[in-house]
Amino acid sequence: MIFIGMDSLSFLFHRISEKYIFEQIFKNMADAQLNIKPMEEWGLFSNINKPLVIAGPCSVESEEQIFETAQMLQVGGIEVLRAGLWKPRTFPGSFEGIGEVGIPWLKRVQRELKMKIATEVANAKHVEEVLKAGIDLLWIGARTTTNPFAVQEIAEALRGVDIPVWVKNPVNPDVELWEGALRRLNLVGLTKIAAIHRGFSAYASSKYRNVPQWQLPIELKQRYPNLQMFCDPSHIAGQRKYVFEVSQQAMDMGFTGLFIESHICPEHALSDAAQQLTPTDLFSLLEKLIIRVGETENVEYKENMDDLRAQIDILDQDLLDILTKRMNISAEIGRYKKENNITILQPGRWETLLAQVLRKGEERGLQREFLEKIFKAIHQASIDCQTKIMNQ
Ligand code: PEP
Ligand code: MN
Repeated sequence: MIFIGMDSLSFLFHRISEKYIFEQIFKNMADAQLNIKPMEEWGLFSNINKPLVIAGPCSVESEEQIFETAQMLQVGGIEVLRAGLWKPRTFPGSFEGIGEVGIPWLKRVQRELKMKIATEVANAKHVEEVLKAGIDLLWIGARTTTNPFAVQEIAEALRGVDIPVWVKNPVNPDVELWEGALRRLNLVGLTKIAAIHRGFSAYASSKYRNVPQWQLPIELKQRYPNLQMFCDPSHIAGQRKYVFEVSQQAMDMGFTGLFIESHICPEHALSDAAQQLTPTDLFSLLEKLIIRVGETENVEYKENMDDLRAQIDILDQDLLDILTKRMNISAEIGRYKKENNITILQPGRWETLLAQVLRKGEERGLQREFLEKIFKAIHQASIDCQTKIMNQ
C-alpha cells in the first residue's frame, strides 16, 4: 500500500492545476492566428501568379558559378535567387559553405541583375552579416527549425527588422515545432513569414530523400489559412528525376510556390549535386507543370460537382450507419465475453478477419495500405469499447 501525505497531495494538486493552466494558455495561443502581411505587399515578385518561384544553387561556390547561374535564371524570368552561404552538413569535412566571403558576389547579382537574394541563416551571427549586407529575404533550414533555442536566437536578432523569412519544416515530422518557429518570428514583429515544405527524415528507405508526408503541411495550412506554403521539391526528391513529380503534386495540393535548386553545372555542385537542375531543365519543368485552380465559374462543372458531392454525402451517411451498427455489435460481444470471462483480444480471429478483408478489398481494386489503415483503426476502436465494458 502507498501512503500519500497531505503535503504530497497538495503538491500533486498544484502540479495538476499548473498543467491544466498551461494547457489552456497553449490552446489559446494555438487558436490565435499568425499576423501575416499578404505576399503581394512584400515587394518580391512582380507577378503574383502561381507558382511563385525561388530558385538557385544549393550553395554559393564561386563568383562565376553564382553569377552565371543567376544570369541564366534571370533571363528565364526568375526574380528571386536562393543561394546558401552557410551549409549545415551531416558529416564534418563536407563542403560547409563559403560563408560571408560570398556576400559581395550575391550583392553583385542583386545590383547587376536586379534579382532579390535569399540565403539561409542558422544563428544570430549569420543574421547580423546578412542584415549588414542588405540581403532581401531569409530562410531557416530544416535542422534549425528543430531547435527552439536557435530559432529564438534568430528571432531576437531580427526583432524590429521588416524582412521576409521562409521557415522550412523541421527534419522530424512535428507540425508543432514548425508552427512554433513561425510564432517565434511573428512574436518579435515579423509579418512577412511563409513556410517551406521540404519533406521529413525517415529511417526506412524510400524512393525520395525526404518523405513528403503531405498531411503535415496540409495540417499547418489548416491551422493558419493565411500562411503561404512553398514546396522544396529538390530536398524531398533527392534526385533530379523526381523533382518534377513532387513539384506537380505540390501544385495539385494548392501550394503557392516552389523553392527549388538550380545550378549552372549540377554534376559539379559541391553540395546536393544529385538533385539540382540546370536552369534550362528548371524552365522545362516549369513549362510542363499543370496549374489547377481552386474554383471555377463554369456552371456545368459546378452542377456535376454538386451532384457527385451529394452522392458522396449519402455514402458517408451510410458509412456512419454501418460503423454505428458494427460498434454496437462489438459492444455486445464485449458484454458476452465479460459474462464468460474471456479475454478481449483473440489474435487468431483478428488475423483471419484482416486477411479476408484485404483479399476481398484488393479484388475490388482497393489499396492494401488503405484497407490496413482503416481496419486497424476499426479494430482498435472495438478493443477500446470492449475494454471499457470489461472495466465497468
Ligand atoms: C538547403 O536549402 O540547401 C538546405 C540545406 O535545406 P534543408 O534545410 O531543407 O535541408
Ligand atoms: Mn541543398
